[in-house]
Amino acid sequence: MAKRCRICQKKAFIYLRYANLALCKEHFIQRTEKVVKETIEKFKMFSPQDKILVAVSGGKDSLVLWHILGKLGFKADGVHLDLGIGEFSSLSLKLSQKFSETHQFNLKVVSAKEVLGASLEELFKKSKEKPCSLCGTVKRHLLNEFAYKEGYSVLLTGHHLDDETARLLGNLLNWEIDYIWRQFPVLPQEGRLVKRAKPLVFLSKKEIETYAQLEGIEYLQVKCPYSRGSKLHFLSDIMDEIEKHFPSSKLRFLKGFYKLRKIFYPKKPIKLFECPSCKMPTTSEGLCRFCRLKERISHGENFKTN
Ligand code: SF4
Ligand code: ZN
Ligand code: ZN
Repeated sequence: MAKRCRICQKKAFIYLRYANLALCKEHFIQRTEKVVKETIEKFKMFSPQDKILVAVSGGKDSLVLWHILGKLGFKADGVHLDLGIGEFSSLSLKLSQKFSETHQFNLKVVSAKEVLGASLEELFKKSKEKPCSLCGTVKRHLLNEFAYKEGYSVLLTGHHLDDETARLLGNLLNWEIDYIWRQFPVLPQEGRLVKRAKPLVFLSKKEIETYAQLEGIEYLQVKCPYSRGSKLHFLSDIMDEIEKHFPSSKLRFLKGFYKLRKIFYPKKPIKLFECPSCKMPTTSEGLCRFCRLKERISHGENFKTN
């Protein structure tokens, strides 16, 4: 028998297996927005008084986040990092700009090449480091530096349930104590490290994708050419397999961790230092990874940062 929407009893459009919930289009949209609103409130991520910045990649996650914030009545600006990864980056930029224009949202663009003196693609060719690791260092630094210098009080990213569970699995496999501690939906401001939050952590990739299609959001369909073969990609496939056999595992895994985090970590495990060059917080004394990278680029050396 065809499933019916749990709220209005009309023919269901989607069945969310993990929640054993069938919904029509209208109630699916309402529920998605409600989940985001409740996550923002539960973790005290921000209020309308905050100066909110969204990291906008042009993919479905960040655009859905920005779109929902607008519908919930939050005023949020966007920042797009132009990483310089060939056609992938030019398309990402185009779609981010198109979205901001149609929604009349403010979007700033930061070019990695302008700041670093080399595009990410150029760095990948010369570095021995894994592309995603190098890219992560650059993205984290540029986003935080921009947010801090422009006076934003909170920086939001579109990480979702699938991202977070794959990352948590990876961090637990290696017992990466510092990373595990930092894997929380909201992290407070620490010196020049701006407060960060992830309002989509309780939504799956499928829900975000479906929501984007229903709301007519045009997002980047191509994947970064360097995403294939990445560790996170592999872990994400494993989590998908677990979820297939044991529905709701991802949500239980993540929610359970958020509850237990307080017990694991009565005190935060890391001390932050100030980078003598950019003045941004770093986990070890001396130049931060970003500044070391920048220095090597300017000297034309190989780009390995550790
Ligand atoms: Fe950067 Fe890796 Fe993401 Fe590509 S897949 S944008 S290299 S982090
Ligand atoms: Zn309904
Ligand atoms: Zn630095």
